[in-house]
Amino acid sequence: MRDHEHWMWQALEIARDNPRSPFGTVIVHAPSQSVLASGCNHTQDSPIWHGEMDALSTLDRETPFAECVLYTTAEPCTMCQGAILLAGIPLVVYGSSIPFLQSIGWEQIDLRAAALAALSRQGCQLVGGVLEAECDARFRQARELRAQEEQGPGPRPGVPGPAR
Ligand SMILES: [Zn+2]
Repeated sequence: MRDHEHWMWQALEIARDNPRSPFGTVIVHAPSQSVLASGCNHTQDSPIWHGEMDALSTLDRETPFAECVLYTTAEPCTMCQGAILLAGIPLVVYGSSIPFLQSIGWEQIDLRAAALAALSRQGCQLVGGVLEAECDARFRQARELRAQEEQGPGPRPGVPGPAR
């Protein structure tokens, strides 16, 4: 059995596809230790295209979801955790937490994944903090990248400010 960190490294690798939103997901079939699906955030194209949704949308009803573990670089949001519960995946392993993402200015619905899972009949175990420092660093880099983009080339000298 490979450990959680092995698969989290894979999720981090997939997250490289979108440095501005480094949310990467790997869905592993635990008994065979094989990757059934992977996904990355594509919210530049659709607001619901999160990494978890990207991975889940490639799987069909025949998937043995009850034998799967979902690895994701950040704690699933309510939409994704809801989809995970509907699929029946019993274990989610994540790196960065929702409170961490909020602390660096990332817009997040203020409900923890475990709190949502507790409202469902079948439930879902959540294990956080796996490769947390690596995941946190990736999200910090993404914030800096976005800040640089929003800032643009900076103020131009000699250009007058707004009229007073
Ligand atoms: Zn999500």
